[in-house]
Amino acid sequence: MEILDGKAFAIKYRSALKEKIDILNKNYGVTPGLAVVLVGEDPASQIYVRNKIKACDELGIKSFTVRLDESVSQEEVERVVKDLASNPEVDGLFVQLPMPKKFNAESILKHIPTEKDIDGLCAENLGKLLSGQKCLVSCTPNGIIELLKGYGVEFSGKQAVVIGRSNMVGKPISALLLNENCTVTTCHSKTQNLPFYTKNADIIVCAIGRANYLTADMVKDGAIVVDVGINRVDGKIYGDVDFENVKDKCSYITPVPGGVGPMTITMLMHNCFVACLRNRGINEF
Ligand code: NAP
Repeated sequence: MEILDGKAFAIKYRSALKEKIDILNKNYGVTPGLAVVLVGEDPASQIYVRNKIKACDELGIKSFTVRLDESVSQEEVERVVKDLASNPEVDGLFVQLPMPKKFNAESILKHIPTEKDIDGLCAENLGKLLSGQKCLVSCTPNGIIELLKGYGVEFSGKQAVVIGRSNMVGKPISALLLNENCTVTTCHSKTQNLPFYTKNADIIVCAIGRANYLTADMVKDGAIVVDVGINRVDGKIYGDVDFENVKDKCSYITPVPGGVGPMTITMLMHNCFVACLRNRGINEF
């Protein structure tokens, strides 16, 4: 069994990215810009945003952060997003999700232009991903593929089971695994007899948001298990996988924390860099 150390891999990935950003800055006088809009006081969102700004600082990406009180109106949030979207210094823009329930997130996200959509969540980027075209790919799924490739995992012909079908994780990781020539089954809360699928899987990606849900009896020997879940229980963080009991059956497994999470932020930075090159017509790199 080998642990897929997302934290260590992300450090290496970011250092290579930083070298490219330094060259971009030196040769073209360009600094990539990333804007984030955070609405409300959700403690987990505050931590995520802080970590993303810290990653920008480390890599030489200029960050623009707008924090708004939950009492602001839908129109005010939309105006802020539109302003950032039209700022030429902003190459990538995202709204930290989930937003407080009173907002219509969909109509706010509509104001993020496709070429600045570094979360890869807009319909055009999701559509391009499905049709195998170049696009900004959703960060968590992209980070999973990069991490597995970094450990030399072969995809072609493998049976992959994705548990979860959200637009942010389940659907795009299913599309990416299919693009890598896996045979993909996407499961969800209405799936009957989930263990039937997981027990036959070479690769399992679990993205449901339920602590320790995937247990050892659901996993075949030698499987690769990727745990996306982040579940806070009594102040402690758990993944969706019963790590202690599942790990010995696996060839590879991601821990929580320190697996998928660090790769997600890294791919956000990567997407901002890619968006910067495309938005400013730079073909080097
Ligand atoms: P989500 O939008 O709530 O979607 C959860 C999915 O899981 C849904 O498709 C749901 O099915 C399915 N599901 C729920 N219970 C199930 C069950 N018992 N059996 C099978 N499927 C079940 O969540 P998400 O945004 O995809 O996130 C999933 C988890 O990953 C969360 O814990 C989140 O915090 C974490 N996450 C981590 C990162 C990271 O960087 N590590 C990034 C994003 C998300 P239905 O569609 O039928 O309801």
